[in-house]
Amino acid sequence: MKKIIIAIDGPAGSGKSTTAKIVAEKLGYIYIDTGAMYRAVTLACIEQNIEINDNELNKIVDNINIELKQSNLGQRTFLNGRDVSDDIRRPDVTKLVSPVSAMSYVREKMVEQQREIGKNGGVVMDGRDIGTVVFPQAELKIYLVASIEARAERRLLELKQKGFNTTVEEIMKQISDRDHYDSNREISPLRKASDAIEIDTSNITIEEQTSKIIFYAQKLLE
Ligand code: C5P
Repeated sequence: MKKIIIAIDGPAGSGKSTTAKIVAEKLGYIYIDTGAMYRAVTLACIEQNIEINDNELNKIVDNINIELKQSNLGQRTFLNGRDVSDDIRRPDVTKLVSPVSAMSYVREKMVEQQREIGKNGGVVMDGRDIGTVVFPQAELKIYLVASIEARAERRLLELKQKGFNTTVEEIMKQISDRDHYDSNREISPLRKASDAIEIDTSNITIEEQTSKIIFYAQKLLE
């Protein structure tokens, strides 16, 4: 049976990961959260206490090994063989990830790895530039959006469940700063691909948003 590439892009908190994970499960595809890769690079920068500039970052990127493994807990992210799936969600990583992921060499290396993982299809990949840069030939491109209030509420819940103490106002500020940075960077800014289907997830359930995507995917697979 034909195996397609499904690209899911959108701003922070628009529901990409949850949606992509369920869609992948239902189709028997691999789920790849590309944000986790940029977060792992950022964690390495924090742990090695390096400045965010080309020279330093190029060295880091050439000397680290990032692996994404599928487990029954979902995707796990490994940095130099260590499971960093929880650490990459820390607020200090979230704060620094946008400037790190705006650097050209970081993107070049991550995109290379993402293309290798998805080259045979059968993958649901979420990120910011999957439909525009990583796989412009993807058969199905989805662009998720949601109001800033809905996105902040979702992140607040996630962070509270992980034991982080924060407020909805603080998260709204962080999300809009990150969106601004991601949308205005020079290389591969966050943008809806011209052939992407936009879905607003502010007022629909996860079930509804995943069914829509499965419907489009099945039409392509018929
Ligand atoms: O998806 P998540 O919020 O975990 O992504 C963290 C950050 O990684 C984003 O804010 C963005 O700066 C960067 N990113 C990116 N390109 C991707 C995925 C994530 O630049 N494909």
